[in-house]
Amino acid sequence: MILMNDFKIEPPAIREAMQAAVARVFESGWYVLGGELKAFEREWASICSVDHAVGVGNGMDAIEIALRGLDVGPGDEVITTPMTAFATVLAILRAGATPVLADIDPNTALLSMASAERCFTSKTRAAVLVHLYGQVHNMPGWVDWCRQHDIALIEDCAQAHLASQNGTVAGAFGAAGAYSFYPTKNLGAVGDGGMLVTRDETLARRAGTLRNYGQSVRYHHPELGLNSRLDEIQAAILSTRLQWLEEFTQRRREIAAAYRAGIVHPDVRLLAAPEAESAHVYHLFVVCCEARDALQGHLQAHDIQTLIHYPIPIHQQPPCLEMRRDPQGLGQSEHHAACCLSLPCHPQMSDADTAAVIAAVNAFKLP
Ligand SMILES: *Cc1c(COP(=O)(O)O)cnc(C)c1O
Repeated sequence: MILMNDFKIEPPAIREAMQAAVARVFESGWYVLGGELKAFEREWASICSVDHAVGVGNGMDAIEIALRGLDVGPGDEVITTPMTAFATVLAILRAGATPVLADIDPNTALLSMASAERCFTSKTRAAVLVHLYGQVHNMPGWVDWCRQHDIALIEDCAQAHLASQNGTVAGAFGAAGAYSFYPTKNLGAVGDGGMLVTRDETLARRAGTLRNYGQSVRYHHPELGLNSRLDEIQAAILSTRLQWLEEFTQRRREIAAAYRAGIVHPDVRLLAAPEAESAHVYHLFVVCCEARDALQGHLQAHDIQTLIHYPIPIHQQPPCLEMRRDPQGLGQSEHHAACCLSLPCHPQMSDADTAAVIAAVNAFKLP
């Protein structure tokens, strides 16, 4: 079976290095908010070319803390996409703000600026831009758009480790970037983890307070925060896995290039190729097919696992049925949800696996 992720077949050297990192934490006798976290925060800030990184419990909390740290909350509207992980929108709700859903561009499945424009009101305070599937697209345009509308740009980078455009890495374009290190992300922990990155020293200090019950110095709580800290074991493991991230990202790109060259089925549409100067990291390789469920069944029969990101757009989730949205509707998101399919694209795949996926897709017969 070709799986969407296969950690058990990673090179043994990775597991040995992770075990050594865990042993180091045990020997230190310090498990939360210690030297491993500080070191990993410095490494991740440097990768993003920003001055500050604040390790938190997960990607969702990173978004909530970014919003709260920027004083975006009750009464404020935040524009985002319905074609994302539920966590993106839940974080906005947890910050007390009002999500407003704009539609996507069908060629990329990323937020449409025309739709975001229709969602903008005098109450809009921020946009949470999701670098879906690992794409970083039209960032100069979005930076300008947010500046013109005088709103904060927050990047959801959960799928975009090392993605960049014009040399700027995801998370460094706007006020804050939110990373997840959930195991299946391009850089994954052995459990939950997240990080907020920012150039803004005030926001970084605020985030450091918010992740730790709103505590400024020990036993002083100027505000109500969360308990959301990246622990020492996960930080040590992430620092270790970081050594393989570049190589694994390159492998994802090779697989994606093979898919782009090899998949020629007339009923299977690929998403737009990345723009020039834009480095896609292929967290997911997504195709679209009107007969998606049949294609998924066909691939399953050929021992190829696939997943759907995402089958239900946010506004069709029961708690979100009344959520504010583009007055022209969210038809493109609904259509994408009905036809998208994520093919296996993980760094442990062999060339033979990749060829098998291509051959199986091309052999698909419409029902
Ligand atoms: C995974 C993911 C999140 C949430 O990250 P967690 O660490 O699971 O909280 C948020 N947004 C997107 C786009 C994601 O893929």
